[in-house]
Amino acid sequence: MAGPAIITDEALLLDAALENIPYGFCVWNSDFRLALWNRHYCDIYNFNPARLHRGMTLEEIVRYSAEQGNHPDETPEAFLDSYRRELLANRGGMRAKSREVLAGGRIIETAHAFSPGLGWVITHEDVTDDIARAEILYRRKAELERQNLRLDAAVNNISQGLSMFDAEGRLVICNTAYQRIYDLPKQYLKPGALHKDILAYLFEHGMSSVRDRESYLRWRRDANERREFTKSVNQLGGRSILLQHHPMKDGGWVTTHEDITEQLEREARITHLVRHDPLTDLPNRMHFLGEVASAETLIARGETVAVLFIDLDHFKAINDTLGHAMGDAVLKQVAARLRSATRDTDLLARLGADQFAILLRPVADPDEPARIAERIVGAVAGPFRLDGQQVNIGASIGIAMAPGDGSTADALLKNADLACFRAKSDGRSTYHFFEPGMDAVLQRRRRIEAGLRTALERDEFRVVFQPLVGLKENRVTCFEALLRWEQDGALVSPVEFIPVAEETGLIVQIGEWVLREACRIATGWRGEARVAVNMSPVQFRNPRLVELVQSALAEAGLAPGRLELEITESLLLNDSEQVLGTLHRLRQLGIRVALDDFGTGYSSLSYLRSFPFDKIKIDRSFMRDLSRNAESLAIIKAVIGLGHSLGMSMTAEGVETEDQLKALRTQGCDEIQGFLFSPPIAPEAVATLLESTGGRGFSADLKPITAGNITRLRRRRA
Ligand code: C2E
Ligand code: CA
Ligand code: CA
Repeated sequence: MAGPAIITDEALLLDAALENIPYGFCVWNSDFRLALWNRHYCDIYNFNPARLHRGMTLEEIVRYSAEQGNHPDETPEAFLDSYRRELLANRGGMRAKSREVLAGGRIIETAHAFSPGLGWVITHEDVTDDIARAEILYRRKAELERQNLRLDAAVNNISQGLSMFDAEGRLVICNTAYQRIYDLPKQYLKPGALHKDILAYLFEHGMSSVRDRESYLRWRRDANERREFTKSVNQLGGRSILLQHHPMKDGGWVTTHEDITEQLEREARITHLVRHDPLTDLPNRMHFLGEVASAETLIARGETVAVLFIDLDHFKAINDTLGHAMGDAVLKQVAARLRSATRDTDLLARLGADQFAILLRPVADPDEPARIAERIVGAVAGPFRLDGQQVNIGASIGIAMAPGDGSTADALLKNADLACFRAKSDGRSTYHFFEPGMDAVLQRRRRIEAGLRTALERDEFRVVFQPLVGLKENRVTCFEALLRWEQDGALVSPVEFIPVAEETGLIVQIGEWVLREACRIATGWRGEARVAVNMSPVQFRNPRLVELVQSALAEAGLAPGRLELEITESLLLNDSEQVLGTLHRLRQLGIRVALDDFGTGYSSLSYLRSFPFDKIKIDRSFMRDLSRNAESLAIIKAVIGLGHSLGMSMTAEGVETEDQLKALRTQGCDEIQGFLFSPPIAPEAVATLLESTGGRGFSADLKPITAGNITRLRRRRA
């Protein structure tokens, strides 16, 4: 709106022009009075056009502007002062620009130019929106940069390698893990690097084997064709890299790369652990059964395979007397010997404890299993040296052949186990093939085991006594207590049930019962005949055995000198300090210790020196051909001589004939035991015998003792 001074046509034209320019406009004359202004000017400052008039001073306008809330950061005086100085400073006709803040935070850019005839011509432009836009742009850019930084950090901090290529095979982005995995030079890591160049580099440096390259290319081709997520493990110079390939819609692809070498090794270690025995590192039972099962296809094709079940002999004794560490050491040595006795194609496994197994596949020659079994028996029989100690064990082996003895893994292993059980009963350190009917043997064993558990409380045991005759004393010097068990009305032989009682540990209670019973009965005997009690090695594991024997003697009121304990060589197999200590303590009490079944063991003669036995009982197997076989006679002669030289009394077991007796007498044997003189007899018969013979148990006219003789004795006494 122009002031009313110019009323010409030109003035009207100028007025219209002023009104239409797109920014605020005003003119201040040189004494700071308003000369000209337009509508936009009023709009920008929120002025009521009616309040403005020509000649209005700058001061009045500034005050009015302040009333409208403009220049909120300054007092009107301060604003006026600085504004006036600004204008005065610009009288060179040049345009100067400045900014003002108005009500509502709007930002106005003013530009003033001085014209000497007119004064200051000032334009005002609302630049609020422009500034806001610029600010948003600025902020967006900053945000983008921050995001990029964050993305960078994320991409570089993931443990997997990451690479992204566009449809033309140009690298878009990759991270440091990618660089690390492939050990790529810098030029291949820059955006734009070509995938084919990177591959060429890798084929030359990392993926050296042709097979690795080909498998990689095949996978890439497939992945590209199928256009879907795929995984694959690639080999890179002996390391395994897991690649996960994600194609993108635009033809590019993202791949993650992960070095899983350690992970695979860890997994392999775990599978190994699951399938192997940690002590010997041999395949375990599970592994073995799996392999036998997979041999079933071989069997179905008509091949023969064999399973050897190996059970160590006397291993328990080692564990019990020398401790588990020694037991473990023996098992390791056994494993090594078994390994060297088997072929590479055979599978050797440790099934548990002291049991091993071998799968022979295939069996080319029917004699092969027996040959290998023999070789193993021989290999395990040799002495084991541990920490300066020498121990002897053995191996019993059962053999089952497929398809004849079964065609499933379970059946083969079970039948080989049964055959092994038989090898053990055959005297150990031997092998046996499976035979139908062996199952029945095992069934019987189970029945015995179950029966033994309740035999004591059911009062099914009794003790009988077999006299031992002193050849010089000419009287019964001792009675050996022998256990009898009647299971469901049938007598079970101790040869059958004692080993079961030993294996199950039941012998501990049963043995104690025999000891107390034998002492109790012997106390009532007339005369001074001793009583001999058989002791199983298992009983010696009791650290309070000496106290137990003492208490049995005290309870019965029997003098220690009348008790004889019979032990076998197997107790001394691994001459443990503890066992020898116990034996010495027993002997110090006045109890006599006898070595039973002499000659059946491994290196019998050496045991004679390990303990000062009171008596040696030569095993009855030597009696059989004593009168005919010169060799047997020579052995007995030598043994008796050796025993005597060590101050031990010599007893012969199983004397059945007069000829044997004669031979033994000639060799200077001290004592005999056997059917020739008497079988084991009931306690009542012993009492009768001793009573009727004045405690001698022997009279010239009552020889040998038979059931009929005892009856006669009884009658005579009656
Ligand atoms: P052993 O200690 O060698 O006992 C002698 C065995 O030889 C007895 O067999 C006896 O009946 C038998 N016998 C005696 N004279 C002759 C003979 O002239 N010819 C033949 N062929 N045999 C004869 P039994 O009573 O069947 O005992 C067998 C084995 O059972 C014993 O052999 C012993 O090792 C064990 N046993 C028996 N009772 C006990 C016991 O209470 N505790 C322990 N730990 N073992 C026992
Ligand atoms: Ca005996
Ligand atoms: Ca014996």
